[in-house]
Amino acid sequence: MIPSRVLAVGAHPDDLEFYAGATLAGLAREGAEVRIVICTDGSRGGGAGAELAAERRSEAERAAAALGCARPRFLGYADGELVNDEALRRDLVREIRTARPELLLAHDPTTFWTRSGALARLGHSDHRAAGEAVLDALYPRAMLGSFYPELAGQGLVPWIVRELWLFDTIAPDHFQEVTAMSAAKREALLCHASQNPTALARDADLEAEGLRERAGFAAEGFRKLRLY
Ligand SMILES: [Zn+2]
Repeated sequence: MIPSRVLAVGAHPDDLEFYAGATLAGLAREGAEVRIVICTDGSRGGGAGAELAAERRSEAERAAAALGCARPRFLGYADGELVNDEALRRDLVREIRTARPELLLAHDPTTFWTRSGALARLGHSDHRAAGEAVLDALYPRAMLGSFYPELAGQGLVPWIVRELWLFDTIAPDHFQEVTAMSAAKREALLCHASQNPTALARDADLEAEGLRERAGFAAEGFRKLRLY
C-alpha cells in the first residue's frame, strides 16, 4: 500500500531526517503528501535561545523541501522540557485531524537507550514524550468526537489512522531501503548547519549500515503497527 497522506512527528528539528529521511523522501516521490510536525523549538541544540530556534526553524524548512515534504508545522514547545500533557496531545490531535493521514511516523516511546557497538547511547526525554503523546493522541483522542469538540467545530472531525511506524527504536521489524533516497536524506541532513551536519550524515550512514545484516540492505528501521 502506498498511502496518499503521511504525517511524521519528530521531537526536534533534524530527528525525522535522521531516523526516517529516506523513507519520507521515498513516500513523497511515490506521490504521497507528506507532512511534518516538529514538537520542540530545538533551542538547546548547540547554542541557546530564540536566535537558535529561528535558525533551526529555517533549517528544518529547507530540509523538508529537500525530502519533497510539505513545509513543517512547528508546535514550539521548549527543547528539553517536552512532556506528554493535555496541551501536547490536543495539538497533535489537531495536526492528525488536519492531515488525515493513513500512515503516521513517530518516535518509539519505549526507547531509553540504544546500542552503538560496545556503547549504550541514552535516549532523549523529548523523544519519548513525543512518541508517547502521539500514541495517546491516536487512541482514543483523534478518533472520538467527545474529545476536543471545539476542533470538530472547526471542521477537524475524528480521524482513524490505519498504520503507525515507530522509528528511533531498538526493536525494528520493518525496514525501508535507504539507498535510492540516500542523496535526498543526506541533502536534508546537511541543511542542519547549526548541528554539525557532516557528523549527523555520517551517523545516519552508520545506522543504516548497522541494519544491513538484518534487513539485507542499508535501511531505516521501524516498529510497524497495523491499527485498523
Ligand atoms: Zn531529537
